[in-house]
Amino acid sequence: MKYWLIILLSSVLAVSGNGQSVIQGKAIIKDIDYLASDRLEGRFPGSKGNELAARYIQRAFKKAKIEPLFHNYEQLFNVVVKLDAPEPDNFIKAAGAGDFLLNNDYSIFPFSGSAFVHANVFFTVSNQETFESNSTLRANWVLLWRNKDHSDPSDSLSDYAISKKAFELGAAGIILINPDSLDSKDVLVRLRPRRETPLPVPVIQLSRAAWQRLKPVLFPEKTDNHAGVSVIPLTVSVTIEKEEVVAKNIAGIIRGSDPVLNNEYIVLGAHYDHLGFGGYGTGSLQPDTVAIHNGADDNASGTAALLVIAAELSHNKKELKRSVIVIAFSAEEEGLLGSRFFVDHLPVPGSTIKVMVNMDMVGRLNKEDQLFMGGAGTFPGGVDFMKKTGEGSGLNLVVHAGSVGGSDHVSFYQKGISCVGLHTGGHPQYHKPSDDADLINVPGIEKVARYIYNVVYGLANRTETFEFIKQD
Ligand SMILES: [Zn+2]
Repeated sequence: MKYWLIILLSSVLAVSGNGQSVIQGKAIIKDIDYLASDRLEGRFPGSKGNELAARYIQRAFKKAKIEPLFHNYEQLFNVVVKLDAPEPDNFIKAAGAGDFLLNNDYSIFPFSGSAFVHANVFFTVSNQETFESNSTLRANWVLLWRNKDHSDPSDSLSDYAISKKAFELGAAGIILINPDSLDSKDVLVRLRPRRETPLPVPVIQLSRAAWQRLKPVLFPEKTDNHAGVSVIPLTVSVTIEKEEVVAKNIAGIIRGSDPVLNNEYIVLGAHYDHLGFGGYGTGSLQPDTVAIHNGADDNASGTAALLVIAAELSHNKKELKRSVIVIAFSAEEEGLLGSRFFVDHLPVPGSTIKVMVNMDMVGRLNKEDQLFMGGAGTFPGGVDFMKKTGEGSGLNLVVHAGSVGGSDHVSFYQKGISCVGLHTGGHPQYHKPSDDADLINVPGIEKVARYIYNVVYGLANRTETFEFIKQD
């Protein structure tokens, strides 16, 4: 009786040292079920659901006896999650032109400054080439047609470049209009947090209909084919209110056993945040539906893999020469903000981080068993190492030396740290409320997690020297 009890207990507690790995599909899907449950409301940074996820990760780290990386597991940082332009403080006025309605006649670019400008309007027909040498734009509004090469009218990236240039040349504010050739529907930009640093001056978009109304008032003599300065000034007030929240990365450290090499680090990371309830401005691909975006694959899958791999590494830490930092990033969906904050506030010298391994969307292994990775060529022998480590894994590895992109490992790459980003590929539920746990390939993610465990284990014990290799 007693004998059987001992057997039973030891098999429950057994970890890989005893032949039983904690990396099991059952454990992984349990974590995904929780992280991607409606209770966590899409894990939007600063939300209650995100906080529940953060606590869940910390409990798992603690249970696996993983030391906190900081004085506790949390690294806090601020994130702008929402931009708002309250109606009374935002307006356009020109004598005799009537009223202009925000988000109907005009809209405000996310990188606009909050400012009040009363100035004449300089209208240029042929965009950048003209205003490069034209001193007339100084202290005037500059009115430009948006770039015709612009593929996505709702995006504001190339608008930023043009606006910044006009500002640097002295423009008091910038007005952009969609030419018909660019966007026949004349969609106005949305005010949502973006990565660009805001300019100090207002940058607004005017609808073509509003421009037709304003043009005869500002330029009574001119047609679309003439450049010039308006006869009366235009008054614009822009006031943008930011909603900022505190977000947190959750990080622990598994100390290596080699007295010298344990001062070198391998980082294993995955973001745990997602899009919350979605809606415009969140990155949802179904923005007109306000519903919980559970993010089972993106990225409860990577987070759950992180938890089991971290536990397994911790159980076997005596076998590790280098130390391993395990980290769950927040605010990835807002532009890799958590990982960027981490690399800007590293608790160890950047040069001691040898490779960063990132998991983002690893739960949907396809029928061909393809696991994709980019950045394998950012350290010497990386491509071979990633391939060799996968022999016998049952995975079909698609290894790219370059193609570094898409997720938090990019923040490391930009700091000159070698990195590999892994994923099982896109799917129709990407960034939609339907990215649910029942679509996860459970045996698949177990295989993927075991492979990534072997990768991190191999990197922590590797004898070849590391150095950063830049890729395209
Ligand atoms: Zn993601």
